[in-house]
Amino acid sequence: PLPGMQHKYRETVLFFPAQGQYCHSYCTFCFRWAQFVGKATRFNSNDADQLHRYLAQHKEVTDLLVTGGDPMVMRTRKLAHYLEDLLKPEFEHIKTIRIGTKSLTFWPYRFITDPDADDMLRLLERLVAGGKHVSIMAHLNHPNELRTEVCQEAIRRLRATGAQIRCQAPLLKHINDDPDVWASMWEKQVQLGMIPYYMFVERDTGAKRYFEVPLERTWEIFQKAYQQVSGIARTVRGPSMSAGPGKVEVQGVTEIAGEKVFALRFIQGRNPDWVQRPFFAKYDPDATWLHQLKPAFGEEKFFFEDEYSKMAAMD
Ligand code: SF4
Repeated sequence: PLPGMQHKYRETVLFFPAQGQYCHSYCTFCFRWAQFVGKATRFNSNDADQLHRYLAQHKEVTDLLVTGGDPMVMRTRKLAHYLEDLLKPEFEHIKTIRIGTKSLTFWPYRFITDPDADDMLRLLERLVAGGKHVSIMAHLNHPNELRTEVCQEAIRRLRATGAQIRCQAPLLKHINDDPDVWASMWEKQVQLGMIPYYMFVERDTGAKRYFEVPLERTWEIFQKAYQQVSGIARTVRGPSMSAGPGKVEVQGVTEIAGEKVFALRFIQGRNPDWVQRPFFAKYDPDATWLHQLKPAFGEEKFFFEDEYSKMAAMD
């Protein structure tokens, strides 16, 4: 067992630094909410040596995702403690460092006026200069979040380090369940030099009932938004469910051999062989998550189920 780490996909390790298990926000739709309010055990580590030992031994890992909470609540020297060593030759296989954050809109001063704001920018610069692809995974739910001058200044400063900013958000009823909102958000992100990355389906957590949108509607919203933007904003993927077996994209509702079905595919899978394999579920107008779906065409199980059950039993 490796506390505070998850080797989630063959090439990707998630790391939850203990000092970053808080967030600038307390979104009630957040699947980490129970942790933030002390109703669930915090899953975290402050063991940089363990992280480094594990990564040094696992040459198949190319990506490290530092996540939380929000790692950008941490002081720069703490983050540097985990990341700076990755510039050593034994970590040459670690090509990409991703850092998930809400700070761009909830605390853009992290990159402007905080006492160690410049230190943070210099750290990112050193990682980029050392050959790492650094990607800030920005959590942005609505284009209004990008309107302030201070947010735009933070984006400019981050981009000047050579880091990329990729943008992701869940589709939330009452907040952004409108294709025009997504289209204008993706356009604004591109205009500001960021990369639209994911539309997520609202996760299966406590407050889901208030925010959830049926899968069919999520796909319609994605499709109508995608149709409005130019190819340059079509880097975005989704709507995607971050479920136990992997990230499952709803590709659409269609009819095959007289049966109405959901077309689905793995964008990311616990077994890499599952990725990009199309599969089909019976159409269900009320379904809001993968576990509510049943296989189409009279099949008993989805192709990945037996293998995933064995993996889950070993987790
Ligand atoms: S910004 Fe993201 S990590 Fe922070 S509370 Fe909201 S959903 Fe959770």
